[in-house]
Amino acid sequence: MNGQEPAASALAGKTLLVGVCGGVAAYKCAGTVSRLRQAGADVHVIMTEAAQRFVAPLTFQAVSNNDVHTDMFAAGATWDVAHIGLVRKTALFLILNATANTLAKLAHGVADNLLTACVLATRKPLLIAPAMNTAMLEAAATQANILTLQQRGFEFIEPGAGFLACGELGSGRLADDAEIVGAVVQTVRRSSCLAGEKIVITAGPTREFLDPVRFLSNPSTGRMGFALAAQAQARGASVTLVSGPTELRAPAGVELVPVVSAREMQAAVDRHLSAATIVIGAAAVSDFRPASRASHKAKKNGIAAELELVSNPDIIAAAARAKPQGCFIVGFAAETEDLERNARDKLARKNLDCIVANRIGAAGSGFASEHNAAMLFWRDGTSEILPKASKSAIAASILERIALHRNGR
Ligand code: C5P
Repeated sequence: MNGQEPAASALAGKTLLVGVCGGVAAYKCAGTVSRLRQAGADVHVIMTEAAQRFVAPLTFQAVSNNDVHTDMFAAGATWDVAHIGLVRKTALFLILNATANTLAKLAHGVADNLLTACVLATRKPLLIAPAMNTAMLEAAATQANILTLQQRGFEFIEPGAGFLACGELGSGRLADDAEIVGAVVQTVRRSSCLAGEKIVITAGPTREFLDPVRFLSNPSTGRMGFALAAQAQARGASVTLVSGPTELRAPAGVELVPVVSAREMQAAVDRHLSAATIVIGAAAVSDFRPASRASHKAKKNGIAAELELVSNPDIIAAAARAKPQGCFIVGFAAETEDLERNARDKLARKNLDCIVANRIGAAGSGFASEHNAAMLFWRDGTSEILPKASKSAIAASILERIALHRNGR
């Protein structure tokens, strides 16, 4: 964040949900809410019980010019389940003064107050500004919880360093208003960068059975494709995820089409292609399949001698040939050597708009890893490097760059 003042209209027409947790910095959050309102946002505040020990709800009511929500069971004028009604209309959910306690609850899906229940019930972007004593921030449990939340797509506004209420000098200070408002403006802008797009994503491995119990496959877990689906949906796209067998659960709201073999994957992509505006091939498709599938378990001795393979269809190349006008096609290239040459070759050969290349075998990235690093090669000859980051963060970067290219920037 550059700390610049956002324009007075930067958040005009946007509804924001702001959670305030119980820590000394709760008093500063009133100023932040006021700044968000000055930037044009309609701000609705939820306070935890502990937050109300530090600052009265009336303060937040005054600065937001809206009722403050504190009670999960409050009776309203109409029957609108409080935590669902609140999250439905918001563009973004900001949690201010996030304490170690609330972070721990969020990391474990606890929903024991209105704030935590709303977080669990939202599919909107989540932005968290933590504030706490340095030791609590640095505690292994807190760090692990932050990492878990980051991997699930929560974004953090780093706490600053300075004088803390506990008398210590260190990190854990709530980020300043300008930084928080700047992060909100950026996230709100980004959250609709794929609005109106219909994205088909392939993910995971395929399985090519040679008999009822044996198949050809690869170690893909589907994490990259599932991360792309979650991040695309968070940016306003409607997403169809065509996935081979994986342990992962599709993000809520994403249409999951489970498949097993490459030919099933191709049939599913074909069915959705005419409505697609973007297709992303993140699946590790088996290049070959057995020429025939035995109906009984093949005898051990016969398999090696008899295994005949035939090529599978290239799903992403076929999509690029049959794509509707204006549809943007993105492939992946996992390479052990000559990354750039092989990726550029695939980009041209498969007639793609972009290819995401990563090196397999590199420590801590690629198949089955939580992390990835990538290079993007575009049809216009340009390329860029995405340094090692969580698969969620890499997915977010890929999608934001696709959105920029789609908009001709
Ligand atoms: O040729 P290669 O398998 O390296 O290409 C990788 C890219 O092509 C990935 O986007 C992958 O999802 C896609 N692919 C495909 N169908 C295949 C093989 C690869 O869609 N049969």
